[in-house]
Amino acid sequence: MKYLVTGAAGYIGSHTARELLMRGAERVVAVDSLERGHRAAIGVLERLAPGRVRFVEADIRDRRTLRETLLAERPDVVLHFASFALVGESMGHPAMYWSCSAGGTASLLEAIQAAGTRRLVFSSTCATYGVPDRMPIVETMPQRPCNPYGSAKLACETMIREQVEGARRTGGDFGAVLLRYFNVAGCSADGLLGEDHDPETHLVPSALQAALGTRPALEIFGTDYPTPDGTCIRDYVHVEDLAAAHVDAVAGLRPAECRSFNVGIGRGFSVREVLAECERVVGRPIPAKIAPRREGDPPELRSDPSLVMRELGWKPRHVTLAPMVESAWRWMQANPAGYPR
Ligand code: UDP
Repeated sequence: MKYLVTGAAGYIGSHTARELLMRGAERVVAVDSLERGHRAAIGVLERLAPGRVRFVEADIRDRRTLRETLLAERPDVVLHFASFALVGESMGHPAMYWSCSAGGTASLLEAIQAAGTRRLVFSSTCATYGVPDRMPIVETMPQRPCNPYGSAKLACETMIREQVEGARRTGGDFGAVLLRYFNVAGCSADGLLGEDHDPETHLVPSALQAALGTRPALEIFGTDYPTPDGTCIRDYVHVEDLAAAHVDAVAGLRPAECRSFNVGIGRGFSVREVLAECERVVGRPIPAKIAPRREGDPPELRSDPSLVMRELGWKPRHVTLAPMVESAWRWMQANPAGYPR
């Protein structure tokens, strides 16, 4: 099968592209603007599968390039990751998030329609649920985002669903799967791909940077949440399991249907629990200080993954934090300054 992957130089996009190649993909067209992604990650994919990877440096809002690429390549499936993805940043820059997520997805959908691509897997988020009334989160619960990152992703979901309905009305069979990710951590087992954001704001790499001394201390954003230890609870999934969920999603794509799935392991860990696991893995205390809440953070996000398991046959290999933190720590020690720039 031929795939086009947007955001293929980013964290989840590169791990998923690697998974597709390892499972025998005939061709992966990797599209990335390199604004946040890393050319070095594409290099890893090129070395893994010589001759099967084509890199196109383009912003997904560049409608002409997208259209030309899709028409020339005619992929069987598009996997759409390209997006800004930081809740905190989105609070101060809503238009930037809407432009990239919603604008980029509109431009991609137009190109998909022009090229007659029939299948799409979309990278969505549990942030579309906002502050849910109950835990764990099931797919049928209301989506009421509480930050611009989540609002813009929800707009993309709506757009994709309407595009599926529109295609059906006009006799087409365009189908999509929306994967609502919970939190993601860890790195590829071969240690070649990693997590490298600038600035880094995610919990696991931030704690490990504090351990390595490349940041002074981990800031714990709020200890007065209504949770057992007062810090926020999240559901962490290993990036390799998340990549595998995309392969399952491709297999589960149905013509003229738009299906949504939560992807988490169904267990919640508090910020303090994640910090304790990081300290266990690095073998020493990590400097940490209590800081005010980060605006836009819901107290708890935990998935009910029964639907993705039942319908797509997805089964996470890792259901504890240890393999996530251990692989992240290995990569960070080998690449303290991230990918070569
Ligand atoms: N967090 C924290 N300190 C940090 C980074 C994150 O306390 O330096 C908390 C954050 O408030 C949230 C959780 O860790 O409750 C996970 O945050 P992250 O940014 O990793 O992912 P998000 O849930 O925002 O997608």
